[in-house]
Amino acid sequence: MAGDATVEDAAVQDLGARAMAMIADLARHTDEPGRLTRLYLSPAHAACADATAAMMRDAGLGVTRDALGTLVGRREGPTPDAKTLLIGSHIDSVVNAGIYDGPLGVVCGILAADALRGEDLPFALEILAFGDEENVRFPTSLASSSALAGDFRPEWLDGTDADGVTLREALVGFGCDPERIGDIPRDPARTLGYLEVHIEQGPVLEARDLAVGVVTAINGATRARCIVDGMAGHAGTVPMGMRADALAATAEMIALVERAGTAARDAVATVGVCTVEPGALNVIPARTRFTLDIRAPEDGVRAALVEEIVSGCRAVAERRGVAFAEERFMDQAATAMDDTLVAALEAGAARAGERTLRLPSGAGHDAVAMARLCPSAMLFVRCEGGISHNPAENITAADAGAAVRTLVEAVRVLARR
Ligand SMILES: [Zn+2]
Repeated sequence: MAGDATVEDAAVQDLGARAMAMIADLARHTDEPGRLTRLYLSPAHAACADATAAMMRDAGLGVTRDALGTLVGRREGPTPDAKTLLIGSHIDSVVNAGIYDGPLGVVCGILAADALRGEDLPFALEILAFGDEENVRFPTSLASSSALAGDFRPEWLDGTDADGVTLREALVGFGCDPERIGDIPRDPARTLGYLEVHIEQGPVLEARDLAVGVVTAINGATRARCIVDGMAGHAGTVPMGMRADALAATAEMIALVERAGTAARDAVATVGVCTVEPGALNVIPARTRFTLDIRAPEDGVRAALVEEIVSGCRAVAERRGVAFAEERFMDQAATAMDDTLVAALEAGAARAGERTLRLPSGAGHDAVAMARLCPSAMLFVRCEGGISHNPAENITAADAGAAVRTLVEAVRVLARR
């Protein structure tokens, strides 16, 4: 009925407006005046956590904080042994950040909990606000979410920030007790799953004119350092046919990386760093050093692509009479999202009147750590120009509303299963 549609549209707009207002409120808390920088366990993180806790309480949630500063807003289940559905994201940021990366997911969770307040659910609900997703301040990796999966590494406590403060000291300063980190891990048998809403940080949804998309997997990644050794020489006197130009060889290799990355399904391959020695206008390049960053949602696709690129670079080197060496320093498996939760998000989007598509995530998220604990899935929200980690990061209120409604409907779908 037309009347219902109007009411529905107003509700969507209202949810979106509320989400935007809450995100703007959290964005006031920064460590650097004039721009948003909110590092783990900083004064701005503390203030932002207080503001988030107040929002959680307003949504009827009971709020606690764990030993790593993760904020937990809980709605109890119908019985003490009911499982718990987790919904979360992070409230720390990179330096000079946008305001949506992280807080969008936390705010969507809180608004979903609020919208579901009067409804019976067969499980407990927890909204999580993690503090250490961006891994900017300490040499950790998703410390706060990894702890829920029992993967917190004790040696992280001795890691220091740029001022020499250890994580242990920073936790104590934040009011947390590092001795209680052992209490954080959850029981997988009592955890129903984990859902995370996040800005896409890429241009695909915008290009397809969709507000939301459902993540199928978080890409695995291989990183390598490569060195090409040729022979320096006078740029004026050594004939073209008698050169071993390391940079010219590298140029062919980079073109090969781009070609192979384009051909492989859902994969991306990037040379982000390339330096030339000696780096003089009138000297034939003797050596280059470059990096490889190769990602794909399927480990088999990524392994084959790495092999194709490395063997291709060797062939280029051989043909050109230069030496090629590569050293892999990272090999991270892809994280598959859970089929049931993916289907619940898709059904939720359909019930919310949103078209979706499935897409892989090129960036890492708390869901990588949470997937080691329980079935996990992510909902991506269109962001302007695919821009993130940048003050220009932007989304619309309508899309934020669509994300909250999708999340609410997905929880309802899971409740009826
Ligand atoms: Zn993020």
